[in-house]
Order: sequence, then C-alpha cells, then structure tokens
Amino acid sequence: MSGAAGRDAPIFDPAAFRLTAEEAALAARVREFGQAVLAPRAARWDREASFPTENYRDMHANGLLGIGIPVAEGGLGAGFRAYCLAAAEMGRYCGATALTWNMHVCSTLWTGALTEDLEMAPALRAEHRRRRARHYARILRDGAVYAQPFSEGGAAAAGGVAFGTTARRVPGGFLVSGRKIFASLAGHADYYGILCTETHEGEARLSRRDTLYLAVPRDAPGVSVQGEWDPLGMRGTVSRNLLFQDVFVEEEAALMPPGLYFQAASRWPHMFMTLSPTYMGLAQAAYDFTVAYLRGEWPNMGGGGMPPVKRRMYPTKQVAVAEMRVMLEQTKALWFQAVGEARADPGKESMLRAWAAQHTVMENAAALAAKAVRTCGGQAMLKSLPLERLYRDARCGSLMLPWTAELCIDRIGREALYEKGETDD
Ligand SMILES: Cc1cc2nc3c(=O)[nH]c(=O)nc-3n(C[C@H](O)[C@H](O)[C@H](O)COP(=O)(O)OP(=O)(O)OC[C@H]3O[C@@H](n4cnc5c(N)ncnc54)[C@H](O)[C@@H]3O)c2cc1C
Repeated sequence: MSGAAGRDAPIFDPAAFRLTAEEAALAARVREFGQAVLAPRAARWDREASFPTENYRDMHANGLLGIGIPVAEGGLGAGFRAYCLAAAEMGRYCGATALTWNMHVCSTLWTGALTEDLEMAPALRAEHRRRRARHYARILRDGAVYAQPFSEGGAAAAGGVAFGTTARRVPGGFLVSGRKIFASLAGHADYYGILCTETHEGEARLSRRDTLYLAVPRDAPGVSVQGEWDPLGMRGTVSRNLLFQDVFVEEEAALMPPGLYFQAASRWPHMFMTLSPTYMGLAQAAYDFTVAYLRGEWPNMGGGGMPPVKRRMYPTKQVAVAEMRVMLEQTKALWFQAVGEARADPGKESMLRAWAAQHTVMENAAALAAKAVRTCGGQAMLKSLPLERLYRDARCGSLMLPWTAELCIDRIGREALYEKGETDD
C-alpha cells in the first residue's frame, strides 16, 4: 500500500494464481497508477466529501475509463475476471475512486463482454453494437463518465420488484420520471445510466421484464441533484439523490435494447459482484498497513513529529497479524474462485459460492479494518494515516444492494434448503 517504501506486490500474484498475461498486465497497470496517483490524493476527497474529478481526468489519460470496452472498439478489453482483479488493485489506494469507477465500468462491461453471452436476434445485436459505439466513443474520446443509479429506497434494487422510475414512450424516445437514492457520482457524471421500467398504455402494473437501461445526460431538462452528502465512509463517491421529472431521453440513449437487462440479471447474475473488488482491495490495504506499521516502516507514524516505533516483537501483535492473514487468505481464495466462475447460466453451486464470496469480502473487509485499528493501536487512528479512512470505507460494503450481506445470507439459506419449485405445502 502506498506510503510504505517501494512498489507494492500484486494482491493476486500472477504465477501463484495463474493469471493470464492480459490480466496480470491490467492489474499491474492499475496498481502502479493507484499507488502513484490515487493514494496521495485519497485523504482529500475523504476530508472534503468531494468527487475525485482530477483522478478521472488522469484515468482517462491512462485509458482506464475504457477498461471494459472491447479492444476492437478501442478499449482495453478486460473481461469480467480481468476487470475484477484490476479493480481490487484500485481499491487498495482510494476506495471512493474504485467504487465510482465500478459504476462507470459497468456501463461498458455489462453492455460489452457480458452481452456476448446473451441471446439477441442478429439484427438486434447489430443495432445494440451500433448504439453502444456512441457511448464508447464519448468515453474514449471525451473522457465521458457514466454513473449507475438504480437504488430507489425500496425493494427494486434488491431485485424484488420492478423499478419505480418509469419511462413512457413518446415520439423519438422516452419521458423518464422518478427518484434515485445514493447515486454515486451525482452532479459529476456526464451520463446517468439509470434502470427504469417502461410503462405500457392501459397496463397499471410494472414488470421487471420491461426494465430499460438508459443513459440520461446530466444536463437534460428535468434532472436535478438533491440532498446533502456527509456520510461515514466512501465520502468521495458523492452519492446524492437524483430526481427525474418528465426528462426526455432519446431512443438512441438506450445502453441495452428492451428486455436485455432482465435477461442479463436473470442469466448472468455474477454481474452484481462487481461492487466487491473495491472491498477486496480495502481488505488487502488494511492488512498491508498493519504489517508496515508494526514493522515501524510507515511514514508519519506518530503525530507531531514522533519517530517511527517498531511493535512487531509483541506476541499479541504477531497473533493478531496471523489471524488477519488467515482471514485475508480465506477471503482472497473464495473471491478469486467465485469471480472465475462468472458466466451465463451458472449452476446452483456456483451461485451459492458467489453469494458466499460477496458476503465474505464485504464482511471481512470491515472486520480486517477493525482488527487493524485495534492491533496497531491509538496512534494509528490519527487522520494523518489512511487506516481510519479504510475502516470507515470498509464499513459500507455490506450495505450495497442488490447483494447486501443480509440478502446473501437470505439467498444462501433458502437456495441451500430448497430445490427449484419446492414448497412445504
Ligand atoms: C457509499 C455508497 C454508495 C452507493 N452508490 C450507489 C450507486 O451508485 N448506485 C446505486 O444504485 N446505489 C448506490 N448505493 C446504495 C446501496 O446499493 C443501497 O441501495 C442502499 O445502501 C440501501 O439503503 P437503504 O437505507 O434503503 O437500506 P436497505 O436496508 O438496504 O433497504 C433497501 C430496501 O431493500 C429491501 N431489502 C433490504 N434488505 C432486505 C432483506 N434482508 N430482505 C428483503 N428485502 C430487503 C427492502 O425492500 C428495503 O426497503 C450506495 C450506497 C452507499 C453506502
């Protein structure tokens, strides 16, 4: 982790984890960028609860805004696992940048690599490719940033019911109305990639099958950002509320054709694991910090010009680090396995593992950060050091829908005990 001397080792050693050359190169690219560029700025976004616009400019210059765009269309062409490994590296250096980058990358990964596994008639696929090329060009050429607001405060983002934000067809496009909460990048993204439900004349009930994924320009008439932003952690995400009042969105703005998001969510459920890499990185960062701190190697260790102190000789500290290492290795192993299983139509065992991995990463990132604070000691809590930020950022992971820690437990318990269609009647 940045701040300690030298360059950081990969979270997933390419030889030990048998990464492809492309995966190793992308992870290295993000790690070097994160350590050199993101880490020195991270405290500022956290302190100000401000959006890391400067980071996004540098990520554009580095090609990272196009990591999920296919190579043939000008991007870096990361597949699902390659992106997850790279994103975990970013999470070590700036949680808020990694989490918001994920919202942006999903607008390319979900519309790119993932759609290759989905069924579309050839003409529709050609149309989808033509449309997404517009979005990709904006990203690659202009550095356009996409947000991904889908939470509404109710059961929709949990996958239970249709989104309450609606899109009504009008000549040339849609009129969108509704409200999104916790929209990371609010006021800072160029486009909001919203999930909403298409309404049909004479049908009162909204259906999840009619989910649309539309890119709404941030300055479209009727779009407004609302509410304060002063949270515990992930402060740089600026996840304020968004209001859409009869916002006209042209048909060409669709990131996916009608029905395709529903198919993706049903058949490619690992798509919802993309929030977890950030927290995999935070878990690694909490461990790395602890080791460097106890070895007396972290700069600015004590406040007020105190010299660095070694603490590694105490058996209690050694036990704590050993326990942290065990937890970190368990987390990495399960997460790596689950991320590698991502594909269309995964089986039940694969899904149980995916939920278990998501739950493990989100809960263990918070647990590791808490243990790091306890083990390093009082001076490690000072705001001149990154640990207390890691601790606060890590706390947010298990709250992220649709796979919150609670919902993962809920699904694992139910799916482990019931086969499809079984009831107790
Ligand atoms: C830092 C941060 C950034 C975020 N960024 C984004 C973003 O960019 N885009 C986005 O869309 N969202 C984002 N979120 C929102 C996040 O994904 C959740 O939607 C949000 O935290 C839910 O908060 P809630 O208070 O509504 O609580 P929750 O308790 O999660 O409730 C939401 C609803 O989900 C359902 N639900 C929750 N738990 C269960 C359960 N156990 N069983 C059945 N149903 C349940 C219920 O209907 C409930 O009303 C962000 C959150 C944070 C903390």
